[in-house]
Amino acid sequence: MNKSVTIDREGLNQLISVLNGMGFQVVGPTVRDEAIVYEKLESIKDLPEGFTDEQDGGVYRLKKRKDKSLFGYAVGPHSWKKFLHPPERRLWQADGEGGDFEIKPEKLDATKFAFIGVRSCEMHAIAIQDKVFINDKFVDPVYQVRRENAFFVAVNCGQAGGTCFCVSMNTGPKVEAGFDLALTEILDNDRHYFVVEVGSEQGEACMEQVTHKLAQNEEVTLAEKVVKETAGQMGRTLDTTHIKELLYENLEHPRWDDIAERCLSCANCTMVCPTCFCSTVEDVTDITGTHAERWQKWDSCFTMDFTYLHGGEVRASTKSRYRQWLTHKLASWQDQFGSSGCVGCGRCITWCPPAIDFTEEIPKIRDSETQTLKTS
Ligand code: SF4
Ligand code: SF4
Repeated sequence: MNKSVTIDREGLNQLISVLNGMGFQVVGPTVRDEAIVYEKLESIKDLPEGFTDEQDGGVYRLKKRKDKSLFGYAVGPHSWKKFLHPPERRLWQADGEGGDFEIKPEKLDATKFAFIGVRSCEMHAIAIQDKVFINDKFVDPVYQVRRENAFFVAVNCGQAGGTCFCVSMNTGPKVEAGFDLALTEILDNDRHYFVVEVGSEQGEACMEQVTHKLAQNEEVTLAEKVVKETAGQMGRTLDTTHIKELLYENLEHPRWDDIAERCLSCANCTMVCPTCFCSTVEDVTDITGTHAERWQKWDSCFTMDFTYLHGGEVRASTKSRYRQWLTHKLASWQDQFGSSGCVGCGRCITWCPPAIDFTEEIPKIRDSETQTLKTS
């Protein structure tokens, strides 16, 4: 199946059933607690039909649309890392008495996930996490098995969010690689359908069980137009020219003090970021002292304990923690993993309580550099 095909809403419903029948746990966007989050889906009835989102620095609001779009919003607070790299998991438990303990390693949870509605920036974020968890020196076995088992139904964005800047980061809005199926949602007068691009043999096998038609040229053209228009609606932009050098050369820039006065060190930005991957381990025991467990949990470079060594924290100030986060994301990530650590999804801007926005902060550093060059 080399050509694009089309499916209607019922076809999308069938796709979810087919994936369920193939043994996948189907997860995707749904409305919960006044936000669009990623949870288990039973049918298209669980999708956020007729919803969109308003996003800005520190602002996220759901609104009703005038149509019945199923994917008419940008990314929310969740990312797919919560399934591939779970927020917490038990590594082992031990039972015993008198110092004689038997350690029982945790069974590998190899749940097969089918992800519905993965955006281009998110496919890029997963490719970045692949480098960290499976393509570097050490392999995370849970990430590896879940990643290898995963089925990706991507969606080309039909509308950019107020904090999106994927065009600046070359990560969207069109999904280019890594998907099994890629959908573009079309609402054309009374007709509601999806142009589907098949990206893998598994995707093709799946589509054979779903009612579809060969896409007509005008339908493919309409799909291309949707993505083009989205690319022109980015809520933010970021000039990434020499960004690594800019940050390395400005570690003592006064702007870091200015940001530190606003930053709460709450770690929201790292929790919502689809590429942040740091974790810690915690040991717990029960009150009898005969049972112990070791847990892996997401951690953040914004917590005090993160850099605790004997005698204190390496990065004790908020200024040093914010600078570390941003410099890692946009500069030293390039040295470490050969790419930027940011895919321009905008989550760290939307979910920052005091609305700190590095697409505003970096130009401030860049402008003052330009000023210095002009006056020297
Ligand atoms: S930048 Fe914003 S989200 Fe991140 S730690 Fe500071 S206050 Fe929290
Ligand atoms: S740093 Fe911010 S914009 Fe970039 S990928 Fe992370 S959450 Fe998205």
